[in-house]
Amino acid sequence: MGQGKEEGKGSKAYEQLKPCLERAMALQAALVLFEWDNETLAPEEAGRYTAKIQGALSGAYQEIMTGETTGKLLEKCRKETGLTEAEGAIVREALEEYERLVRIPPKEYRDYQELVAESARVWAKAKEQQDFDAFAPTLKKIISYQKKFAGYRAKKGQRLYDVMLDDYEKGFSMEKLDEFFGLLKKELVPFLKKVMDSKVEIRDDFLTGDFPEEKQRELAEFLAEYVGFDFKRGVLSESAHPFTTNLHNHDVRLTTHYRERVDSSLFSVIHEAGHGIYELGVDDGLTQTLAGQGASMGMHESQSRFFENMIGRNGAFWEPLYERLQEFFPEQLKSVSREEFVRAVNKVQPGLIRTEADELTYSLHVLVRYELEKMLIEEDLDVEKLPKLWADKYEEYLGVRPENPAEGVLQDIHWAQGSFGYFPSYALGSAFAAQMYYFMKKEMDFEGLLRQGKVNVIREVLRKHIHRFGKMRDSRRLLRDMTGEDFNPEYYVKYLKDKYGELYQMKK
Ligand code: ZN
Repeated sequence: MGQGKEEGKGSKAYEQLKPCLERAMALQAALVLFEWDNETLAPEEAGRYTAKIQGALSGAYQEIMTGETTGKLLEKCRKETGLTEAEGAIVREALEEYERLVRIPPKEYRDYQELVAESARVWAKAKEQQDFDAFAPTLKKIISYQKKFAGYRAKKGQRLYDVMLDDYEKGFSMEKLDEFFGLLKKELVPFLKKVMDSKVEIRDDFLTGDFPEEKQRELAEFLAEYVGFDFKRGVLSESAHPFTTNLHNHDVRLTTHYRERVDSSLFSVIHEAGHGIYELGVDDGLTQTLAGQGASMGMHESQSRFFENMIGRNGAFWEPLYERLQEFFPEQLKSVSREEFVRAVNKVQPGLIRTEADELTYSLHVLVRYELEKMLIEEDLDVEKLPKLWADKYEEYLGVRPENPAEGVLQDIHWAQGSFGYFPSYALGSAFAAQMYYFMKKEMDFEGLLRQGKVNVIREVLRKHIHRFGKMRDSRRLLRDMTGEDFNPEYYVKYLKDKYGELYQMKK
């Protein structure tokens, strides 16, 4: 595949490196399983004990990845010229991991892993009790570790937040993101105000009500399968917040939740299936290797949001499906037309919660987090000031203000997990998805395919250009190779303005 030399597998150093990496991947898989278990089935009391196990497993992982043998072999492999593209990517990933871990003193790394394993529970409790002060000291510790670790790795002159951003999305530093978020702020904040001032009323009351959980579960499985999620290699479970995790491309796990609002689970499951389909589409040559998963967080989110929005919220998608949906909920939906349903699931409602946001306001939620992360990392913003700043920004961009921290600064788990630099990828993913959408509309009758129920044709195009490569190529290259153009956020702005301009009958 691609440009690497196919005859490369004779490299002796690479053959010796393989068993080291296999052991490391086994530990990774165990860690992923514990995370999955914590979120789905593990009893409440298990948490603090599991945190110890996770700390020990992480320590063992660091030991293997940074061991002298691994280091020497990686150094040899770095100089190899005969590796295939896949092998080259695996070595590159391993080298990055090596560089990332080797600079952190083992004790610090282990203490940190225990801290974040424990902090999820501290956060959850603080959120439940709407008490930011209960979480603030833990958050301070996490930030100080994060800055310290980034400092160990920073190249000369590199800013700490850029080090963190690079872990999630290569090629998108603050300079690039300031431009991106600047465009969204300039275009979308005033556009949203116009939408809110429009006289168009969209009914969505029928989406809330008595939708039996059992039926919702059946529907979720039906939809995941309809869009192409393979249940022989994947499962669907339940958790408070829907997520996807994967051991490798033959074991991908989705979760969803079942709410009174039927579209919450319905679109969550299509979203997570999008993540899952990406992982399932990775080439078998990369299975259980460091390159055997999605290219980046942003590229991942582009696939989930593509399935959720460009496919799932598309009127054409529901043409062959709507009667089927009515059969699931005959009482609730019998007097609701397909057109009414499609309008309802696209209604714009600025709210406080990111994960419940509509497509138009979604990236503004991310904008708030990006600005605050930058301040926390680059400007030493005092953690105590977060709740008020958060509320002020929500008021400015979205016109809503949280009344308590549970619906404000405490809503997301990311900071409790130490994932600084992650949020921007949510907005980037949406923008990647829009660029892919316009490319595909040029190449094929996109809506026509949906009307004929041929999601598989669209899925195959995504697999051909994106999924199969795993981590072999970075997101900017994948996007450029697919669409023939470098990342261009104007597509995203156009997509939103066209879609919502039409829905809200705004003059161009
Ligand atoms: Zn997602």
